[in-house]
Parts: sequence; C-alpha cells; structure tokens
Amino acid sequence: MKVGVIEHFDSMHLLPGHPKCGVPHGHTYKVEVTVEGPVVNGMVVDFDILKRSLREILKTWDHTDLNRLLPVPSCEHISEAVLGQLRGKLPGLRMGVRIWEGEGKWAECEG
Ligand SMILES: [Zn+2]
Repeated sequence: MKVGVIEHFDSMHLLPGHPKCGVPHGHTYKVEVTVEGPVVNGMVVDFDILKRSLREILKTWDHTDLNRLLPVPSCEHISEAVLGQLRGKLPGLRMGVRIWEGEGKWAECEG
C-alpha cells in the first residue's frame, strides 16, 4: 500500500552555467512524499507524523537561496537531499520524494 502527503515551499536558485536557468529566479516547489509498506493498525504511516517531519525539514528550504544549500540546486538534487533528511527523521520506511519545479516539471528519488 502507498500513502502520500504534499507540501510546498517558495525559493530562489540558479543553475551555474545553464544558458536559461543561470540567472537568479524563483519557483514554487511542490513536494510529494510517498511511503510504501504494509497496513498496520489501519495505517502505513501516521499522516500527522509524516506531515510534521516534512514541514520541519522544509523550513530550511523555504524562502531561501537554494544555492547556499546545494552547489547545483536542481529538482534532482533537491529530491535526493530532502529524501536523505526525511530518512534521518523516519528511518526504516520505504519512501519516495518527488519535487515539482513549478508546473509540469519534476524529479523523483526513491529508496
Ligand atoms: Zn529554476
């Protein structure tokens, strides 16, 4: 069974050397987290715990210069980093993090 939560954050970044994205600009990022596992006592994971953990992590990603957090803050690298931070808070869960950069573009990291 899979369950998921969605949160958002707004930040700025640039992709060094990229012809279009190499100048500072902002996005509203959508963060989708999925957790897969057996249903135990009616739940795969407590939504409240999942949401609180994700919101805590995203405080550091919101309204900031993402180039201060990652050398190349692409969707791909953000999804890897957020998944790593979430694993630190919720070990032992099979999770995926999909980062949407505005509408129509996303990257997903699972594990
Ligand atoms: Zn961008």
